[in-house]
Amino acid sequence: MIDQPLLPGLDEESAPFFEYAARGELRVQACADCGVRRMPPRPRCERCGSFEHRWDAMSGLGTVWSFVVPHPPLLPAYSEQAPYNVVLVELEDDPTIRLVGNVVAGADDRLDSIDPHSIAIGMPVEVVFPRPVSDDEGAVVLPRWTPA
Ligand SMILES: [Zn+2]
Repeated sequence: MIDQPLLPGLDEESAPFFEYAARGELRVQACADCGVRRMPPRPRCERCGSFEHRWDAMSGLGTVWSFVVPHPPLLPAYSEQAPYNVVLVELEDDPTIRLVGNVVAGADDRLDSIDPHSIAIGMPVEVVFPRPVSDDEGAVVLPRWTPA
């Protein structure tokens, strides 16, 4: 039975995203040759084929591009925080980049700290960084969003 929140599996490509988040920075992988940003992180640029990359700092501002309100059956860790939202946020700095997350009242608040009926497509949001979530593999900081 899974009764803990699910955490992303970190690999060589994705780990920097979470390392920056742990420092309170939202950064997105970009091709070092042609500048195209990509999410999720990948070893190779799909436009120019380069294997060189950098991590661009984002302002942390975005808008809700889409969202869902999950319904039961839910995993225990989530059912006790329902109803909550899962959003896809389009970044203001680069509308080609959309990040999955949750809109919450404050960085460390519960998933149900915002009434999901108050979420709307186009809603401005700002990134926040909660305390790390620990599991057997280490500690992970998942960027979240608050109404801007
Ligand atoms: Zn490129």
